[in-house]
Amino acid sequence: MNKGRKTLRFRPWALRVLALGALAVVFRACGSGPTPTRAPPQVTARATAIPPPQPSISSDATVLVGAENCDAGLSDAARRNDESLRRLIFAPFRRPETGWGVYEPLMAHEIGTRCSGGSAAFASDLAAWQSAHGLEADGVVSAATFAAMKAVWEARRPFLAANRTGCPAPPPEASLAVVPAVQSYGGKILRLRPRALAAYERMLASARAAAPELRADPRLMTVFSAYRSPEYDAARCARDGNCQGVTRASCSPHRTGLAMDIYLGAEPGYGPDSSDDANRLFITHGGAYRWMVENAGRFGFAPYAFEPWHWEWIGEPI
Ligand SMILES: [Zn+2]
Repeated sequence: MNKGRKTLRFRPWALRVLALGALAVVFRACGSGPTPTRAPPQVTARATAIPPPQPSISSDATVLVGAENCDAGLSDAARRNDESLRRLIFAPFRRPETGWGVYEPLMAHEIGTRCSGGSAAFASDLAAWQSAHGLEADGVVSAATFAAMKAVWEARRPFLAANRTGCPAPPPEASLAVVPAVQSYGGKILRLRPRALAAYERMLASARAAAPELRADPRLMTVFSAYRSPEYDAARCARDGNCQGVTRASCSPHRTGLAMDIYLGAEPGYGPDSSDDANRLFITHGGAYRWMVENAGRFGFAPYAFEPWHWEWIGEPI
């Protein structure tokens, strides 16, 4: 097994690339579908690679992350996962996908490991998670195991529960706070519920204090979409003819004033909310997303796994 893909780490080169790539960004609002600003490139080895080897402690025999030995665990399952990271055929959000690399950081966090998806330790930790959730504890990432984990993630999003009994009404626009210009990607006028904005600002300050990589590009972790009125979204739906697709719902969480799209980088040539798999893979293996996965929960934010830029503040009722 290649130790070069054992650990989940920031990739400084990625942040440098982001700075260049953002120059080519053509903005579209959240969830606007897989239409990159140019023909989608092949998913390159760089895009699919799990972060390079920077283990906390290493020797010829083992790779350790903190106190965790990534080489110790279910090696047969690890081999299968290492393969399926790029090959698993499934459709977890209705749209067919190949490989589960996009979800690797979120899954690793869920099962409590910082070892990569192809490691023996990941397989063992996954087996423990499977066992705790009534699944066959084989340590193998399958469509069924992913579906179970997706259900856990979705249960943390109050908007989804609220929407089952009817699309939630938006808050009065006069009650919303304006996102400061320096926290708005491109300086757009954006609004959020005041407490959601305050939580975001605390999170942003923490991220920039903890991770120098996130200070290198002042656009990283700024907000590019926040509250959107039902009328605005309806007009967009009608214009684009995609009102209930995988990437756009007729009842968007953005109407609550609690959802926000946060710029976490973008593959060069793509917008920061392009749902093209290459772009999602790029974002989820960058430092900003990794920081969010590990820390956003402390500030009351829940992710939407399919769109790595989309986060919902769950600190007050919908
Ligand atoms: Zn969004």
